[in-house]
Amino acid sequence: MTWDEVNGSEDMIEEDDWRLMGQEEDLCGVHLRLKPYLLGYPGYDHDHCEFCWQKIAAFDYPDAQREGYATDDNLRWVCQQCFEDFKEMFGWKVD
Ligand SMILES: [Zn+2]
Repeated sequence: MTWDEVNGSEDMIEEDDWRLMGQEEDLCGVHLRLKPYLLGYPGYDHDHCEFCWQKIAAFDYPDAQREGYATDDNLRWVCQQCFEDFKEMFGWKVD
């Protein structure tokens, strides 16, 4: 990688990215696993990405994704796009 590529990268995630709202307190360095959304709790059939609020659902909603990255307790979900964008900043552990 050249110096220009390092400085000119438009994909660089900034620390003032609009999706960052203090999640680092709960999500820094945690273990995440890509899995289909689970019907874990009565009355819940979907959740939202912790960062961009992308809907992650157990059913084929038009605007929902069917799988995402979840913490071991399945309480926090991160969509695949945000996982790719923030994995280095947050240091997530994956299998
Ligand atoms: Zn997201």
